[in-house]
Amino acid sequence: MRRTGTLIAVLALLSALLPLAACGSDEPVAVSREALGTVVSVTAYGEDEVAVRAAIDDAFATMAEVESDLDAYDPESAVSDFNAAPFEWHELPTSALEVLDAVDTLDAADEFSVGLFGVSQLYDFEGEGHVPTDGELSAALQTASMPEREGHRLRFLGIASTTAKPGLDFGGAAKGLALDRARESLRASGVVTAALISSGSSTVTLGTKPDGSVWRIGIEDPRDPETIVATFAFESDGALSTSGDYQRYFEHDGVRYHHILDPATGLPARGIRSLTIAAPSLSGLDTDILSTALFVRGAAGAVEYAEAAGAALYVVDDEGRAQLVPAPADSGLTVAEEATPKR
Ligand code: AMP
Ligand code: MG
Repeated sequence: MRRTGTLIAVLALLSALLPLAACGSDEPVAVSREALGTVVSVTAYGEDEVAVRAAIDDAFATMAEVESDLDAYDPESAVSDFNAAPFEWHELPTSALEVLDAVDTLDAADEFSVGLFGVSQLYDFEGEGHVPTDGELSAALQTASMPEREGHRLRFLGIASTTAKPGLDFGGAAKGLALDRARESLRASGVVTAALISSGSSTVTLGTKPDGSVWRIGIEDPRDPETIVATFAFESDGALSTSGDYQRYFEHDGVRYHHILDPATGLPARGIRSLTIAAPSLSGLDTDILSTALFVRGAAGAVEYAEAAGAALYVVDDEGRAQLVPAPADSGLTVAEEATPKR
């Protein structure tokens, strides 16, 4: 499957960038495990290797909690409970409320919608791939239009005539939130002095490495996973997320149908192949929401947003042209272009 191919590429990339597991305060402990529907890697520094390993176990447990709230593909999750009866009021878990609040704070609600599960299901990305008919799309979009919220409760507005069932999908933000929680867990352990946690598409860093060197995160060419096209380097705490049209997709009649949907049309957002946003001042939840939302907004709007927000941005458009917005000077983040993306 394509997703597996991407995962392997990400793992190969991580192993090239990260030192191997070892002990002692100058060598990190590195652990990779299946989590959040992908492979998550934690690299952590600390004096006491046994204690660092225990802290990493706790961090993975924290991520599993977020997944059990927000994974729409896990039939036991809180979101699956909601999706089983979407027209009834449900109390949402704190993690879901945190995502909804962050979408508002970031001013991303026009492009980032947690109500697109029913629309996304039409495409059958995990199976054979299906191009929805106009009728299927408009019925699904009608019920998907942002659910009603009252405090901690949410429901979709029922439309009796429709056959399309709406649902919640936090897949565009859950990994970033889980990485934030994992980072707080490592910080609170008191035994981890510095760490990097990555789900492949999102990465957060904690503190500065003992030797003072930067945390480097390589961005792959959206049309060639072997090639690193840009490198982001954090001195200390930071967050970065990439959204791409190559992560979940199928092709039909020469057209690529990928997983990032424009809430206005229900169609895959056009114009961008890959978008990365990063900042020391943003959380993993913020960058995860923004990479998806700005992918929908388009390259020009994304550049404008990043400049105003003091964030770094690297975007490859649908003709393979790259644009870079550097982080502000002295922000603790530098970005370097490493290669020209494939056309
Ligand atoms: P990401 O890789 O973070 O950009 O997230 C993509 C995932 O978010 C998709 O696989 C869908 O589950 C979900 N998604 C797709 N389009 C949107 C959208 N416009 N707003 C919010 N979530 C979306
Ligand atoms: Mg995202």
